[in-house]
Amino acid sequence: MVNEAMYARGAESSVIREIFSYANERKAQVGAEHVFDFSLGNPSVPAPDAVRASIERSLTLPPEVLHGYTPAPGMPEARQAVADSLNRRFGTSYGMADIFMTVGAAASVSCALHAVACPGEEVIVIAPYFPEYRVWIETAGATCVEVPADPQTFQIDVEAVAAAITPRTAAVIIDSPNNPTGVVYTRENLEALARVLDEANAGRAAARENQQPIALISDEPYREITYGAEVPWVPSIYEYTAVCYSYSKSLSLPGERIGWVLVPQASAWGRRVMCAVAGAARCLGFVCAPALFQRVVIDCVDVPSDVEAYARNRDVLCGALKRFGYSYVEPDGAFYLWVRSPDPDAEAFCERARAFELLPVPSNSFGAEGWLRVGYCVAAEVIEGSLPAWEQLAREYGL
Ligand code: PLP
Repeated sequence: MVNEAMYARGAESSVIREIFSYANERKAQVGAEHVFDFSLGNPSVPAPDAVRASIERSLTLPPEVLHGYTPAPGMPEARQAVADSLNRRFGTSYGMADIFMTVGAAASVSCALHAVACPGEEVIVIAPYFPEYRVWIETAGATCVEVPADPQTFQIDVEAVAAAITPRTAAVIIDSPNNPTGVVYTRENLEALARVLDEANAGRAAARENQQPIALISDEPYREITYGAEVPWVPSIYEYTAVCYSYSKSLSLPGERIGWVLVPQASAWGRRVMCAVAGAARCLGFVCAPALFQRVVIDCVDVPSDVEAYARNRDVLCGALKRFGYSYVEPDGAFYLWVRSPDPDAEAFCERARAFELLPVPSNSFGAEGWLRVGYCVAAEVIEGSLPAWEQLAREYGL
């Protein structure tokens, strides 16, 4: 016998991973240069030299030190380095107690969710959203409540969030710069969200129906990948915020699995939630974040992300798609272009695009209809090579 819930998760396919596998098959059949794979958010920019230098320094440590367990919340020096870096950037006064090192953002978000949501409660996501949110929310025994973003701007539709809040709402997850739309939530938008959450919390306290404030989980693996927009520091806007971060995108280390959760320890809420994050990490079997890469974080915490190649890809892709008649959301950050599908059935468009070896992701798995996600974290030649296919499809659809 197996656990049927786990079996179902293993058996269901991730559309993104499926397209990525298909792309690899096609590359083997027709040659990599003829396949235009826009499926995965795997950074095309190499990790900075400082990462290699840090690893080489660590390799001089005695092996039993290098490869040993670290404390479950992480090496004190790594947590302090992260806190110091945030304090320099955001004028905060965090210490190591505010930081818990994790196995990438996936672990950050799933631990934060398990920490704040109880079985039977609800967690609001802003659609379109990163598909794994639903998996992690449901694994915590909670219900995933989709609230569509503003259909014009893809900012948070704050009134719709207010309408979706119930006495069972445990948390809202936001993700800015956003995967899949590339939108960065403005300060005004986040302040409006904070007002709605504060009002809901005040209403709860008055009604004595639920004394827990609504948690805001701010998932920020793309914080550094921006094209000039300000990415506000969310805990300075809403008190009950947990920030989930990862170096997968900012330092191009997705395979190394390193990130952190920040829960400000200034309040009793924060101290209880951080203890629950530690409990969730323990229950989910994370033990500790990879030791070698905690040391990389100490050395590289302030190394800037190289966004130039993404910025160039973004400009080339946006310029060409505009000329061909496509409409899309102007991306302020991350490395995804959210393109209106010329076919209202995005899956049908993607099927037709396969004839040209063009592989975007249909929007259905992100909780939205009629859009395409085009991941432009690819070599510049992939963008250039794909343009005739985009143009031909635009003609066929009469754009
Ligand atoms: N959150 C978002 C919005 C993402 O796009 C991703 C990965 O693509 C993750 C979380 C998971 O990141 P990590 O690889 O650090 O676990």
